[in-house]
Amino acid sequence: MSRPNRHLFRYCPHCRTELASRREGGVERPVCPSCGFVQYLNPAPGAGVIVLRGDRVCLVKRKFEPRQGMWCLPTGFMEWDEDVRLTARREALEETGLEVRLTELFAVESGVLPPDIPVLVVFYRAEETGGTLQAGDDASEAAFFPLDDLPARVAFAAHRAVLRRLHDLWLEGDPKGGRHG
Ligand SMILES: [Zn+2]
Repeated sequence: MSRPNRHLFRYCPHCRTELASRREGGVERPVCPSCGFVQYLNPAPGAGVIVLRGDRVCLVKRKFEPRQGMWCLPTGFMEWDEDVRLTARREALEETGLEVRLTELFAVESGVLPPDIPVLVVFYRAEETGGTLQAGDDASEAAFFPLDDLPARVAFAAHRAVLRRLHDLWLEGDPKGGRHG
């Protein structure tokens, strides 16, 4: 799990004073004795999309570390002022070239982006409305895989959990699993 020490500031990013430490809400946090800045460490929120063509799901191959060369669902971090739904649609377009419409909130998963960044990923079901399948941004490939024949090594436990659940729904013939849709 996460070892946050390397993420802690030693000097105030606002006024450059050496930071002290204060216990707040049961957690030791760096605080600035000069300007009052407190450093809160929080998971980074992101969004991902599940796009199906029949019983095949769209995955992207990671162009960069971590887990370079492994496949995962199209996912990315939220920008500062972005609605999470927009993040999902933006990442779909950037990584797969597909324009999508979100149809359902499918899963919310906590996870760790290796080596030690805690994340929270909101996964939406989505259907294509336009565009052409083409890898972009930090994806080197984009492709549709049968739910019962996914790549052997999918990056990130949260993505594997989502794909397992999707596969289970599909096996059960649940429309949400994609067999009928
Ligand atoms: Zn300060």
